[in-house]
Amino acid sequence: AQIDSLDLIVLVLLLLGSVAYFTKGTYWAVPKDPYAASALNGSAIKKGTRNILEKMDESNKNCVVFYGSQTGTAEDYASRLAKEGSSRFGLKTMTADLEEYDYENLDQFPDDKVAFFVMATYGEGEPTDNAVEFWEFINGESPSFSESSDEKPLKNLKYVTFGLGNNTYEHYNSMVRNLDKILTRFGAKRIGTAGEGDDGAGTMEEDFLAWKEPMWQALQEEMGLEEREASYEPSFSVEEKDDITKEDPNVYLGEPNKNHLEGSQKGPFGASNPYIAPIAESRELFTVKDRNCLHIEVDVSGSNINYTTGDHIAVWPTNAGMEVDRFLKTFGLDEKRHTVISVKGLDPTAKVPFPTPTTYDAAVRYHMEICAPVSRQFMDTLAEFAPTEESKKEMKKIGTDPDYFKEKIVNHYYNIAQAVNSVHPGPWSKVPFSCLIESINKIQVRYYSISSSSLVQPKKISITAVVESIRVPGAGHVVKGVTTNYLLALKQKQNGDPEPSPHGLTYEITGPRNKYDGIHVPVHVRHSNFKLPSDPSKPIIMVGPGTGVAPFRGFVQERAEQAKRGDNVGETVLFYGCRRKSEDWLYKDEWEAYKSVLGDKLIVFNAFSREDPNKKHYVQHDIAANGKLVNDLLMKKANFYVCGDAAHMAREVNDVLAQIVEKERGVPKEKAEQIVKGMRSSGQYQEDVW
Ligand code: FAD
Repeated sequence: AQIDSLDLIVLVLLLLGSVAYFTKGTYWAVPKDPYAASALNGSAIKKGTRNILEKMDESNKNCVVFYGSQTGTAEDYASRLAKEGSSRFGLKTMTADLEEYDYENLDQFPDDKVAFFVMATYGEGEPTDNAVEFWEFINGESPSFSESSDEKPLKNLKYVTFGLGNNTYEHYNSMVRNLDKILTRFGAKRIGTAGEGDDGAGTMEEDFLAWKEPMWQALQEEMGLEEREASYEPSFSVEEKDDITKEDPNVYLGEPNKNHLEGSQKGPFGASNPYIAPIAESRELFTVKDRNCLHIEVDVSGSNINYTTGDHIAVWPTNAGMEVDRFLKTFGLDEKRHTVISVKGLDPTAKVPFPTPTTYDAAVRYHMEICAPVSRQFMDTLAEFAPTEESKKEMKKIGTDPDYFKEKIVNHYYNIAQAVNSVHPGPWSKVPFSCLIESINKIQVRYYSISSSSLVQPKKISITAVVESIRVPGAGHVVKGVTTNYLLALKQKQNGDPEPSPHGLTYEITGPRNKYDGIHVPVHVRHSNFKLPSDPSKPIIMVGPGTGVAPFRGFVQERAEQAKRGDNVGETVLFYGCRRKSEDWLYKDEWEAYKSVLGDKLIVFNAFSREDPNKKHYVQHDIAANGKLVNDLLMKKANFYVCGDAAHMAREVNDVLAQIVEKERGVPKEKAEQIVKGMRSSGQYQEDVW
């Protein structure tokens, strides 16, 4: 049989790792260090060596904290470990992106130094994008270390490891588990336990905090470290530049990199360089007042950006004005918000997370994830800078007592400014800005499953996004999603809606120096493996409740176009679900139009969960009720796709499918589960879940 390009990609991926299920899985979210390469004006990144030992020697380090990070959490934990190692135990620490070094010389890692590995697991037990090369090396047949011919080449290596995973996935924390096995097999010595954080149970932070204390003790003993009274030590210097104003053309006012600062948009566009795209059209998809779902068409015709149906688009968010104001006021920066600052790493390994010189306002608005949940450790760190003795005590208590932290902060869904305000109304002017830069994550791009077909509209990318707005019982405020409310504001502005500031939030919609004026949004495209079969006559089954339908709108749009062009299009089955016919039925009229082209080939099952007050009706029920159809199509080599909620729906769909296989094929339960697993590993069963 002829191998087409998609098959080839799948084959290559299969070869890439010996981890089972490597082919499936859609990687997403790779905003590594958007500014590392191009934009660090004056910051202290030293490019060059991929030799970690050399790097540690020349920067006088004895502890490296490697991270394999996808959405920034592992990177954040790595920074926190590095900081704590330095301030509490006098270690000379650095963090390191796994992607930036080679590992052949790990066998020469000196025994008076230590390496940490903070490893996130992605999708079906896969490494994060930045850890792929490291993983291929260390997990390869026999990694060729530079000198050792020994069976135990890593016998001098001391390591510490923590994994970030999600127990709703089958391969829970498999990166840290497997890495730990491999390193031990090669003779390396683990200090402390191999920690595991569980995002699925919502205990990641507490798992991390509980793991690290005994680990530090073990490390102290191993390396003869002495603990000292930890006080904050800055990694960055922040210099206020009174001689420059924000109008100076060299000052970054939110421009993501130098190209953008200089006014030219140059490709290639990607994770370190967004395209400021015009929004061609935007509209509301829901018919109820209190919930919003946006359809947005992003025009990429002015760029060399390409996509294929099933890819993801990344939106670069801007914080809401109200939150920026709250943050600046809280930390006593309001009056000097437009003061120009230059931020530099105090150590050659410290990377400044945004381009400078900039202003406090721009750094906070465009680069810092100021609305995210707060970590207990951060509250502890800030205690030292509390405005009064009383508030200091309270911060210490919150920072060290998990239950109290939960009661006072977590249950209220506070962001950092709200959290410290709840302890003391402030201002918290003693908190150094460097501490805020170090402790608050870089703002993350948000990914959206593209809901258009590249065959139909190659230069217009559509997004289907539900606007996050959560009324927390007892919290007294509504938690607003950063990006989706920004998109809502853009939509309102574009349509001249009567209330152009969602929920009182205002946005700097025209962007730095008005560069986003005329309704633009910064984006880039990320390619995924979530793809239609290259042969349109193959049947497909799609499961996409809520916004999970996004990529399937693209799939069906594409199949309808193929049918129009005379292709033989196979059965196209969609299991869709929403609350009510009259409220949130996405693209209701469009399905009719596709049906008029695809005829009987298109079958849509709609599950309305709230139409019947006595019985919730979900996609899983429809799939189960149509087991014969599903199985028949699977026997005809149909691809099976699931998109949307990872925590519940995707897992239940997997189980329902196994039940169908068991019943329809008359095989035992274990065998049916095995068959479904096989479908996943062969790429017949694909997920795009979040
Ligand atoms: P955020 O600000 O990121 O907040 C998200 C949630 O975090 C809140 O709802 C709340 O539960 C919690 N939270 C935030 N702040 C706090 C706090 N202070 N305390 C406690 N909890 C808090 N979404 C779609 O609508 N359509 C799609 O097609 C789509 N496709 C995706 C594809 C991929 C590959 C991925 C990874 C995600 C996809 N998503 C999609 C989800 C999307 O990326 C965003 O996560 C989502 O839109 C929310 O972004 P936001 O910035 O508005 O919310």
